[in-house]
Amino acid sequence: MEIGFGKIATFHYTLKDEKGVEIETSRPGEPQAFLYGRRNIIAGLEEALEGKQAGDEVTVTLPPDKAYGPRQENAITRVPIKHLLNPPKRMRPGMVVSINTREEPKQARVTKVGKFNVDVDTNHPLAGETLQFEVEILEVREASKEELAHGHAHGPGGHHH
Ligand code: ZN
Repeated sequence: MEIGFGKIATFHYTLKDEKGVEIETSRPGEPQAFLYGRRNIIAGLEEALEGKQAGDEVTVTLPPDKAYGPRQENAITRVPIKHLLNPPKRMRPGMVVSINTREEPKQARVTKVGKFNVDVDTNHPLAGETLQFEVEILEVREASKEELAHGHAHGPGGHHH
């Protein structure tokens, strides 16, 4: 069975930067699962996996616009510390914090710490990076009606709810 619309694929991956330095890997943990065509994973990776089958190994290099987008230079904002979700007691530049918003909490990296405010960079940590993915497809199966309705995979590697 090939990866395409209405299919769930389960895979292991290793993510490396442009120089080949490993950033993260799903091994030896749980593999990832995604529902094709619903942007469960980044666009460039989904494109590269279309038509692949269980057992296939895929290596793909993605420029920023196919991965997490370019870095925005104006993404530094000042946030009152009281708007952070569970702020760490001793904040330091480089820490990742969660900002309370009307929608989902937003992750950002602290660039400067003041008494009542912090400056944070709201770029995705991998924005502006060219990324290399090494992927091994473990399984391709039909999505259930429930998975199609929810727009994501359930079970191992998918959503648990
Ligand atoms: Zn669901």
